Amino acid sequence: MAKEHFDAVVVGAGPAGAAAAYTMAKAGLSVVLLDRGEFPGAKNMFGGIIYRHELEELIPGCTQERTFPVERHITEQRYWLLGPESVVSIGHKHERFNSEPYNAWSTFRVKFDPWLAGKAEEAGALPIYQTVATGLIRDRSGRVIGVHTDREDGDLYADVVVIADGVNSLLAEELGVHRTWRPDEVSLAVKEVIALPRETIEERFNLEGREGTTIEFLGATSQGMTGLGFLYTNRESISLGIGVMVSDLMRSGVKPYELLESVKAHPMIRRLIKGGETKEYSAHMIPEGAWRSMPKLAGDGWVICGDAAQMVNFVHREGTNLAMASGRMAGETIVEAKANGDLSAQALAAYERRVRESFVGKDLKKIQRMPEFLASQDPKQLFDGLIGALNEAAFRFFTVDSRPKAQTHKEIMQDLIQAAGGPGGLLRLAWRGWRAING
Ligand SMILES: Cc1cc2nc3c(=O)[nH]c(=O)nc-3n(C[C@H](O)[C@H](O)[C@H](O)COP(=O)(O)OP(=O)(O)OC[C@H]3O[C@@H](n4cnc5c(N)ncnc54)[C@H](O)[C@@H]3O)c2cc1C
Repeated sequence: MAKEHFDAVVVGAGPAGAAAAYTMAKAGLSVVLLDRGEFPGAKNMFGGIIYRHELEELIPGCTQERTFPVERHITEQRYWLLGPESVVSIGHKHERFNSEPYNAWSTFRVKFDPWLAGKAEEAGALPIYQTVATGLIRDRSGRVIGVHTDREDGDLYADVVVIADGVNSLLAEELGVHRTWRPDEVSLAVKEVIALPRETIEERFNLEGREGTTIEFLGATSQGMTGLGFLYTNRESISLGIGVMVSDLMRSGVKPYELLESVKAHPMIRRLIKGGETKEYSAHMIPEGAWRSMPKLAGDGWVICGDAAQMVNFVHREGTNLAMASGRMAGETIVEAKANGDLSAQALAAYERRVRESFVGKDLKKIQRMPEFLASQDPKQLFDGLIGALNEAAFRFFTVDSRPKAQTHKEIMQDLIQAAGGPGGLLRLAWRGWRAING
């Protein structure tokens, strides 16, 4: 049987792979889009927010199509610092987010991924789903020339293999560009989709029509571990979840589903999901290593995109847009290399430069010290102690009694300083935190 040969084989039809396949197929390259799922997104999960800008960059006009699969456009974003039975909150709502062009939407991967991969198929990519890439094929010089799959006679050959198989990238490991992630480079997130009537959601979150709200929360809900929770409104359901560092989970022995159960019981969250019915439960890893954990991005016959290369900006809840941007840049580089008749490792290295010079690289570099900062903190002190003290401070600040305000304020400051580890502690923490999010 003749060997099947393509310009590119893309492994993984998530946002990164679909974007790469779309870009190359649109330019007339022969492309296979491979995914192990029955269809793209069949088993994929995320918190739930996608962003307009990168989608429009990839497929201009697509976010205004009737078939664009979204739940609500996001008009309000809140951050909650939770004590065991309290919250200190900040947030932002703007009418400008309530009209075209929207900024962000809530959605489900089971709808979004097939839609995006469908665009690649319409552009001419050949979909091969329910098929696992089991390994890389190399020639004698070591150049990657294709992939083995779990189908009989299923080897696929190509000029370039685009590795976009997500956070547990077995192909990247096989290639040796990265190792198994350390437990302090990845978090494990668990999520439930909780069904509620549309009117109930709109009343509880003060929403009109298709407006949507996001809430990110941290503090008591992560039970002394480094973690972040999320609650997003869909049309007739709520996506609720929490992610904590794998290293902390291993240390604590807490089971992920127990963590989510305690989130659901928190007094500030309980009332928002009251009467809801759990429709789905899922779990997934999130890469949290940022810039310093990013592997080499291109080599002889291969490029690597999205989560497989640790491209998640966890400080800003951005992953799908980085994945799509890197997939697009990989696709553009391969199209150019093909046009120039030079698919060497040097030519593909242009992809790495592109990513590192784009917002993807710059944003991941900006937060490069964040993993180190978080690892250097005692999560119990940070997430329970300090956030708990902040909640106590707010409680006392808002409590009206006959005590002189000056005395109350002095005590509040003393307690906060103590919770931060002494007089210099608060300043040190603020300074190190500031540095961690600023390169
Ligand atoms: C809990 C959670 C919440 C998140 N919230 C958000 C959010 O709100 N907004 C946001 O922008 N980002 C969010 N992210 C991050 C975002 O989901 C990822 O950054 C993004 O999905 C990465 O896309 P990707 O295409 O690189 O990988 P993936 O989406 O993981 O896609 C990889 C694909 O490869 C396939 N695959 C894997 N191995 C093989 C193989 N061997 N053979 C064939 N196919 C294979 C998989 O089936 C999958 O379809 C969140 C992530 C998690 C886990």
